[in-house]
Amino acid sequence: MFKKGTKIYSIFTGSCPKCHEESMFKNKNPYILSEALSMNENCSNCGTKYKIEPSFFYGSMYVSYPVGIAFATAAFVISFFVFNAGINAIFISIVATLIIFMPVILRLSRNIWINFFMHYDKGLAKK
Ligand SMILES: [Zn+2]
Repeated sequence: MFKKGTKIYSIFTGSCPKCHEESMFKNKNPYILSEALSMNENCSNCGTKYKIEPSFFYGSMYVSYPVGIAFATAAFVISFFVFNAGINAIFISIVATLIIFMPVILRLSRNIWINFFMHYDKGLAKK
């Protein structure tokens, strides 16, 4: 869908931000909730350490706020303009969207956060 080598690719696939070859997460499915946030220590392809400092991923909380707003806005637009819903139904749909997509939002924010600090390196990618 997205080209390897772009930040968008790493963000949406959850792949290693430096080589884009490996998933950072132990389980690719975010809806297995017990493993939703369990990540590999290092990239097995290029050896990049993901947690570059203790509690590094606490910073992704700052990112999850705008990501959550993006999901909430999408829920609002769909329920208001597509389904012509009333205020209560819109509120419920926004809350439901945020709960249902919580694992996805958590992972997206981690991917965006780590991509602020690490950049794609062609030399590390497999040939
Ligand atoms: Zn890597």
